[in-house]
Amino acid sequence: METKIEGMKVPYEVRVSEEASRPRIDHKLGNFTVVLPEEAEENSEDLLVKKKDWVLKKRKEFLRFKRKIPDRNLEEGGKISLLGDKKEITIEKRRSNKVSDKVYLAEHLVNRTSLEDQLEKLLREECRRIVEERVEKYSDQVSEEYDRVFIRDQETRWGSCSSRGNLNFNWRLILGPEHVLEYVVVHELVHLEEQNHNEKFWSRVREIYPNYKKSNRWLSENSSKLVFSKEKLDAFSS
Ligand SMILES: [Zn+2]
Repeated sequence: METKIEGMKVPYEVRVSEEASRPRIDHKLGNFTVVLPEEAEENSEDLLVKKKDWVLKKRKEFLRFKRKIPDRNLEEGGKISLLGDKKEITIEKRRSNKVSDKVYLAEHLVNRTSLEDQLEKLLREECRRIVEERVEKYSDQVSEEYDRVFIRDQETRWGSCSSRGNLNFNWRLILGPEHVLEYVVVHELVHLEEQNHNEKFWSRVREIYPNYKKSNRWLSENSSKLVFSKEKLDAFSS
């Protein structure tokens, strides 16, 4: 569904929830979900209008974000930046995909799926290798042990740490600078000691990774640079 508020298109969905005790609006990637309790009498469009300052702010933020997404030249001969290092994408007859001086994709695999598919697969593996290395590097500096490392594909989260001590990282961190990936690793490791973003948490992050503010700022200003595929994002956000 879509409505217009002050001339701006606002895409939204309505969801009726047994758990919700009052109406609310959720936002993700430019789309809104009006969550209504089962017997709500409110009209969803009225609710959006009532919260229009917040709605329009979120929508504008998203459009700005979207405009900053790089146009990736995902084709043979194109270049992709991995941890700040630009690498050419090459397709050749070989058994498997590999990253070294270039990004080498195996022709038979590309033919079976697509270049974008194989590239994503390879970068996920590459990200796992690098993340695991960094987790090893920093894990001695926190007092709690981690359990397992998972590489995930999440739209907006860069990392998380579960209560069981599993560490999750977004594979698209490999598309950003190295210091950002390293910072996210340290951030999640520190969550093993302290779950909340309180003073103790940040002082531990600072001890282990003194330059963390620079990386944190990069993430909040440049997260659009970590979008791999504009098309995929468009599937979420009209
Ligand atoms: Zn955190």
